[in-house]
Amino acid sequence: RAKQEGRNTYRLYSTSMDVHEHRWLAMETALRDAIDSGEGLSLHYQPLVERDSGRLASMEALARWHHPRFGPVSPGDFIPLAERSGLILPLSRRLMKMVAAQLRHWLDAGLAPVPVAVNLSARQFWQFDLIEQIRSLYQEYRLPDGLISFELTESMLLDKQQQAVQILTALRQLGCQVAMDDFGTGYSSLSYLHQLPITALKIDKSFIQQLGESQGSETILAAITGMAQGLKLTVVAEGVETDAQLDALRRYHVNLIQGYLTGRPIPAQQIAERYLINESRASPP
Ligand code: C2E
Ligand code: MG
Ligand code: MG
Ligand code: MG
Repeated sequence: RAKQEGRNTYRLYSTSMDVHEHRWLAMETALRDAIDSGEGLSLHYQPLVERDSGRLASMEALARWHHPRFGPVSPGDFIPLAERSGLILPLSRRLMKMVAAQLRHWLDAGLAPVPVAVNLSARQFWQFDLIEQIRSLYQEYRLPDGLISFELTESMLLDKQQQAVQILTALRQLGCQVAMDDFGTGYSSLSYLHQLPITALKIDKSFIQQLGESQGSETILAAITGMAQGLKLTVVAEGVETDAQLDALRRYHVNLIQGYLTGRPIPAQQIAERYLINESRASPP
């Protein structure tokens, strides 16, 4: 009987694994098709505004995928799926082209775009021809220097800080800003930060959302912003949702605000309507 039970248990386990596995495989195939055709892939743009003036400073491009059968799939799911299945490089290339094409479109329409930040995944960051890819993207789309900027995370650089410095230096030489994303959640020591030629720190939303709830988050915020100020880094607070959080952030050295309070990620068309200045209209001949 125990044997039978064991078998049943095994079969149940196996079946649910199969279903799970099958769904991921089907999704992987669908994602591959989406990357090839571009269908269902899009970008939303979220404003980063100056804390005190509220002026638009830059935006972050955030990938979106909508599949006819799976519906909207969160980047929290399909980015890791792409990373596991080796699709992250073609996906990233496709998304970067979409950002460049969008910027070119805005420029052609007479709009004054602000820098757009692209999230780099680890594989992409360490690709041997990353700098060359970015250089030729700027050329192909005739983009002014610095219009595309980049975000990376601490964990990508782990144990390879010397090599990372070279890549970051090359990015900076292209005129690109580079931000450390989700700052405070990584495992790295703060001591190496000053060696990295980055331009901004984005404080992870987990700290922002604990503001006013835990004294600890304020202590961390004070430490991070104090250090960033010393290093002359732009400080971005991510995930700001309430006025109370924004008020608390005024006590610290925080330059930019990104969050649902100041603007959700929205499609390019809406970004243009709400935020971008028409240069020809702003200054008539
Ligand atoms: P991230 O780079 O840290 O992006 C910020 C995330 O926080 C976005 O989630 C954004 O929608 C969300 N967010 C912004 N404001 C608020 C807020 O006030 N409250 C809350 N709760 N959330 C807020 P999203 O769009 O789901 O993206 C998740 C992650 O997926 C990103 O985190 C990034 O790591 C990754 N990702 C997104 N697009 C790309 C991409 O094109 N390439 C790569 N490699 N990764 C991407
Ligand atoms: Mg980011
Ligand atoms: Mg982040
Ligand atoms: Mg994140």
